Amino acid sequence: MSQIVVLLGKPGAGKDTQADFLSTQMNYKIIKTGDFARSLAKKNKNITQTLQRGQLVDNGLINRYVADEILKDGWHGRYLTDGFPRDLEQAKWFDDFLSKHKIAVTKVILLDLPDEMAKDRLLKRGRTDDTGETIDRRLGVYRDITGRVIDYYRQQDKLISVDAAPSPSQISTALREALA
Ligand code: ADP
Repeated sequence: MSQIVVLLGKPGAGKDTQADFLSTQMNYKIIKTGDFARSLAKKNKNITQTLQRGQLVDNGLINRYVADEILKDGWHGRYLTDGFPRDLEQAKWFDDFLSKHKIAVTKVILLDLPDEMAKDRLLKRGRTDDTGETIDRRLGVYRDITGRVIDYYRQQDKLISVDAAPSPSQISTALREALA
């Protein structure tokens, strides 16, 4: 039976680090839409600008990527989406897509962190979209748009909130417990 876990959290909450742990420690296959968006940006100037502005990439492209990743190895095992769904349309599309294959999102983990801490972490990391202005825009998109995704999963009773302020290994322990 497939397991589908959604990992949510604002930029800087530590989704990538935790997804790496879950991949090695619990054998989750990670579907990371941010990496896909960056690979598109290398070939397409409009998408480069979208990322630099902290806006979301077109849903059609993102949804197709997620579908391909899940379908290509035939639904076996455990999947974890990192950075997806990021708006309500993606969340509803994902439910529809999964239900056509008679499965559903199993659990949703929210890595929870105050904006100020997230911003500090991102400024230290220094990716090209980690400048002050773009970070503020991404945090705004997260609050206004991804916030609805959080409500959507909370209403479905699937949301588990994990404090993202402690050390990566402490968060990882909390996550493994949440997913056990
Ligand atoms: P972060 O969570 O720090 O913003 P990501 O690597 O998850 O980092 O995302 C970087 C950028 O990639 C986003 O700002 C957005 O432009 C794009 N992106 C990632 N995931 C999605 C998605 N599900 N839908 C639309 N755009 C996305």
